[in-house]
Amino acid sequence: MSPSKSQADCIFCKIISGEIPSQIVYQDEDIVVFPDINPATPVHLLIITRKHIPSLAHMAEADTPLVGKMVKVANKLAREQGLSEKGYRLTINSGAEAGQVVPHLHMHFMGGRDLRWVH
Ligand code: 5GP
Ligand code: ZN
Repeated sequence: MSPSKSQADCIFCKIISGEIPSQIVYQDEDIVVFPDINPATPVHLLIITRKHIPSLAHMAEADTPLVGKMVKVANKLAREQGLSEKGYRLTINSGAEAGQVVPHLHMHFMGGRDLRWVH
């Protein structure tokens, strides 16, 4: 686990608080969803926890249900976007070697075009 920015400096916490404006496409007591600022696919949403958890590696056992809830929200969004049948990809990058840039737990929801597996 590498050192992470403090919660006060966190871009995604600032989106949750409204300090940084974003188009919120879904929110509930645990989860907030908004479009990725640099979309890699026609549909590219970020599903984040309201709780500032720096990465998967920083999760406490009590945080486990949050990841299930992220998937549940993703499946609901997929239905709404007409992607349930076509297909969609959920990705969580954890740590520098995986390409995590923003140290606040988030799941990428990607779809809308043919995706190839990237190693
Ligand atoms: P990571 O590489 O950490 O898994 O993904 C971070 C994602 O956050 C990137 O895809 C990047 O485009 C997105 N991102 C970074 N800063 C912002 C921002 O200020 N607003 C939004 N909506 N997305 C951001
Ligand atoms: Zn945060």
